[in-house]
Amino acid sequence: MKPLIYLDNAATTKTAAEVVDAMLPYFTEQYGNPSSIYSLGRTGKEAVTKARETIARSLGARSDEIYFTAGGSEADNWAIKAVAEAYGEKGKHIITSAIEHHAVLHTCQYLEKHGFEVTYVGVDEQGILKLDELKAAIRPDTILISVMFANNEIGTLQPIEEIGEIAGSHGILFHTDAVQAYGQLPIDVDQYHIDMLSASGHKLNGPKGIGFLYIRKGLRIRSFVHGGAQERARRAGTENVPGIVGIGAAAGRAFRIMEEKTAKETELRDYLIDRIEQEVPYCRLNGDRRLRLPNNVNFSFRFVEGESLLMMLDMEGICASSGSACTSGSLDPSHVLLAIGLPHEIAHGSLRLTLSEENTKEQMDMVVAAVKRIVERLRAMSPLYEDFIKQESK
Ligand SMILES: *Cc1c(COP(=O)(O)O)cnc(C)c1O
Repeated sequence: MKPLIYLDNAATTKTAAEVVDAMLPYFTEQYGNPSSIYSLGRTGKEAVTKARETIARSLGARSDEIYFTAGGSEADNWAIKAVAEAYGEKGKHIITSAIEHHAVLHTCQYLEKHGFEVTYVGVDEQGILKLDELKAAIRPDTILISVMFANNEIGTLQPIEEIGEIAGSHGILFHTDAVQAYGQLPIDVDQYHIDMLSASGHKLNGPKGIGFLYIRKGLRIRSFVHGGAQERARRAGTENVPGIVGIGAAAGRAFRIMEEKTAKETELRDYLIDRIEQEVPYCRLNGDRRLRLPNNVNFSFRFVEGESLLMMLDMEGICASSGSACTSGSLDPSHVLLAIGLPHEIAHGSLRLTLSEENTKEQMDMVVAAVKRIVERLRAMSPLYEDFIKQESK
């Protein structure tokens, strides 16, 4: 067995040891219900309060603007459906981007079946939202703009501050899915004019099944889960205390190590990009070279089938992901790669490698060697490649 090289941190991350340590007592000794009066419950309540404060501080928000959820998907669903419900009388038009995560896209599609109209604004070939298209899409009945902070496939960072200003100047609410960005980049909700922001624990070395939605104070947002008075009666259910402690600890850790982690990942990212471009012919870097997440690398290789590439990388102990097939098992190419203008056959040959601060330069060299070898082997089996080379050599 080859040692594992994990390069799928956009899918999920390892829970950091200090996060697990912080969580453990809340499974064992400190199991009280935070709503209880006795001190066993109070300890849990204090831990929840502390996590909420850590997260609020990290965003320049107030504690009572942070609502814990069961992850990023729930936070996205809540934000969009709640605005539709509370502001639907004012208007029934929503603007989002063509490259959102399915948690946003499918929620918008659901609302389209319930009387709302949605405009999916396009992106340029780097994956950056077209601001003039956004401005042109605004109507008197637009109630929400939802644009992700950073894309999960190609890593592109969006002009969030400009989008927030455009939304704010038109009196439109602004939600951002920051699941990929939170913990990787500094975010200030006031500076960026963000009204709602989604994040998820397991994308920042915290546990799975916990996330939060930031909701700016004063927004008319009704309860998402009806029941008890938890989360200021907006999201009922006994708090996931270990999970909340975990996401709080993960947030504290992420902001503490951010500078060092970003520097290390950026260096490895650019090294990997340069070496793949040098070693593998007929490849294309997807996403903006500079305006991208510090840990994201995404390439398309012509005449290569992404799924085969992934399976052969797996045999070498390399965990990666492709943009080519969505999780439902469909073989449709990624909507993100199509939105940046890639033809179907090139979008199919894509590879996403997302790094962590634990990766090394030696690992990057091993990955480059494996990708080079596998791409050569797959192309050698491709009749299209054979024809292409014949044409090229004429
Ligand atoms: C992972 C991810 C989500 C979903 O988060 P979960 O916690 O897994 O539900 C939503 N948006 C983006 C951009 C993501 O990367």
